[in-house]
Amino acid sequence: MTATSSAPHAPVRVLPLVPTIDPLGRGGSEPAAGARKRAALPPTHLADLDMAGRRALAAALGEKEFRAAQLSHHYFGRLVRDPAVMTDLPAAVRDRLAKSMLPQLLRPVRELECDHGQTRKALWRLADGSLVESVLMGYADRVTACVSSQAGCGMACPFCATGQAGLTRNLSTAEIVDQVVYLAALAASGAMGGEPRRLSHVVFMGMGEPLANYQRVIAAVRRLTDPSPDGLGLSQRHLTVSTVGLVPALRRLIEEDLSVTLALSLHAPDDDLRDELVPVNQRWKVAEVLDAAWAYAARSGRRVSIEYAMIKEVNDQPWRADLLGRLLAGRLAHVNLIPLNPTPGSRWDASSKPVEQEFVRRLRAAGVATTVRDTRGREIDGACGQLAASVTIPTETGAQARQAASLV
Ligand code: SAH
Repeated sequence: MTATSSAPHAPVRVLPLVPTIDPLGRGGSEPAAGARKRAALPPTHLADLDMAGRRALAAALGEKEFRAAQLSHHYFGRLVRDPAVMTDLPAAVRDRLAKSMLPQLLRPVRELECDHGQTRKALWRLADGSLVESVLMGYADRVTACVSSQAGCGMACPFCATGQAGLTRNLSTAEIVDQVVYLAALAASGAMGGEPRRLSHVVFMGMGEPLANYQRVIAAVRRLTDPSPDGLGLSQRHLTVSTVGLVPALRRLIEEDLSVTLALSLHAPDDDLRDELVPVNQRWKVAEVLDAAWAYAARSGRRVSIEYAMIKEVNDQPWRADLLGRLLAGRLAHVNLIPLNPTPGSRWDASSKPVEQEFVRRLRAAGVATTVRDTRGREIDGACGQLAASVTIPTETGAQARQAASLV
């Protein structure tokens, strides 16, 4: 099948739909029960539980229930996880409680920085050996954490490095939250240029498809936005959930009545091309996914961010800008163009600047707010689509080699 009849571009392989997608995003992309060794499951952490669950766990451990709030205050309020500094808790209690409720989920493998410390990428090894990455980005007015929601990804978008590796597993709620808490502590420590900074924003734009790990991602959103000591106390409006557009899960998200920002990875305005660039489009078409996005916008009052990677001679033609403009005009949306980060071995490249500018001009002429994303972290493979630790950094030795290569 050719990608489009009206505009030739580099040949694209049509990828079959990933069979493990659960249309309701109920964790269906996890391996079948029994297929995974129990040892691979991360231990329960307080960030997996709401306060009632933490109190119950403290009681089950033979401790006073109020210890749950004390421990939560250290973790979410003070960004502290070392029992030695939790001096309001009796020494014996804090060691025991911290061991059971604050197990180490993320083992740092490597941290890389660029942009004079304003962009930092962390590579983590999970309990089962999976590798995931997070990125911390400092701007004048905000500090953003970009976090992973799955180890690998099952969506198979051919231009995305994570998509090439396939899905290893869903992350637990706490494995997601802990990335943010760790990065918040890093920002607060003055690691970004000396001044302590307060983490303000979180984007679910790291590895994985957040809506394919629906329940854990929603629980993570709640933990991140519940006020301290229940959670980290971030504003829902400062969280962005980015999705390929799993329509049933998107419909379910609408019912949560959240005010998080929705980012929709559209990448093509026509089904012919989107079927190839975002293979789930073979199941849920452009019109259907946009309908769901507008329903989300109407319910949340939030402008939907339409993500569009600019791929040279693939999706950057003027007619596609015009078609996109017609689809979005008058809607509560803005377009975020992402210059393609070519992935290793990819035959695709980023659009040229004049082509990109013409695309922007046409969208704006159609009345659609459009920005071009500042692609942070390219030198450390921290930019969009480059978070592919499990493919490119299989071992620490590999990470070292890669670090050396990417920091020259
Ligand atoms: N699964 C989610 C989050 C993934 S990454 C989603 O698809 O939305 C966040 C964004 O980076 C997505 O819009 C994704 O399509 C985009 N992206 C992936 N690889 C890219 C690349 N090589 N260059 C530019 N953007 C890329």
